[in-house]
Amino acid sequence: MDQSHDRAMPRLSRRAALAALGLVLPTLAACAPDADALVSLRATAADLPSPDPDDSTSMPVPGGIASARAVPSPTRAVPDRASLPSTAELVARFGTAVPREWGLEVTGVVTRTEPHSVALTFDACGGPQGLGFDERLITTLRAQRVPATVFLNTRWVAANPGLAHELAADPLFAIGSHGARHLPLSVRSHAAYGIPGTANVAEAAEEVRASRDALEQELQREIPWFRSGTAHVDDVAVQVCRALGSLPVNFSVNADGGATFTSDQVAARLATIQPGDISIGHMNRPGSGTAAGFARALPDLLARGVRFETLAALGGFQKHRRGVSPRPRSD
Ligand SMILES: [Zn+2]
Repeated sequence: MDQSHDRAMPRLSRRAALAALGLVLPTLAACAPDADALVSLRATAADLPSPDPDDSTSMPVPGGIASARAVPSPTRAVPDRASLPSTAELVARFGTAVPREWGLEVTGVVTRTEPHSVALTFDACGGPQGLGFDERLITTLRAQRVPATVFLNTRWVAANPGLAHELAADPLFAIGSHGARHLPLSVRSHAAYGIPGTANVAEAAEEVRASRDALEQELQREIPWFRSGTAHVDDVAVQVCRALGSLPVNFSVNADGGATFTSDQVAARLATIQPGDISIGHMNRPGSGTAAGFARALPDLLARGVRFETLAALGGFQKHRRGVSPRPRSD
């Protein structure tokens, strides 16, 4: 692994810090479902392939075609997070709020980027079978100079620190957080694809804060965006995430069906992309059809004049505060 990214803080101590947060070992653990029933939840896409699996296999891919549409992602230093609310303050503020929405498209979650561009996003989920790296996919993006945003789980970063630093150092890629435990973000243990979500406000806050802070410390840059494991959220957890200064981002185009699509299916799905779309795919599943599908589809999209940008095109976090209820709904 490339060791050239070592900086002042020794690698071992950073990894030890991740481990101390419980982020190194796969901890899909322990949110016993709450007995509380959820009131009026929005329907989920449970009948569709998960946008976000937690396992992997392996296989390779071909190169890409040179193009000149890269829009480098501006990198910002780690902001001062000292003024963010404590977990106790978040529990006091949101603890009695009853979620009204659950799923992939929930009030307060960004699912579209600016209308002039398309944002490709790729998750690295971590976990026992989710630690792979789709080198062919990343090589294809680089060869075609197509920027993308990668959502990294802290377990994946702990297992692949050199790759994480390499991606962070490449202006073609912007980095978001894909959580620590890779759990659906819930305040009531709501499950997606059989995975129970975080159990309450405190657990939801910890999933957002711990992963974001660990990535910012490891990569020494701002990590502005958050996507939960399975991408499922409830609307109260979304407000907790925003209160912690992280912008929840999902997608409008499921490009690889949780890395279950064939390359033909991936290419067909990508052919439907329009300006303003955010796609989701996976960069930790080298055995999937994802890389081959992107390698096939991207030249046509570039020829069509599609402009790709990272989520940095969304602009500052403040801009996306609009439209969010300032107070949680309580019953
Ligand atoms: Zn994932």
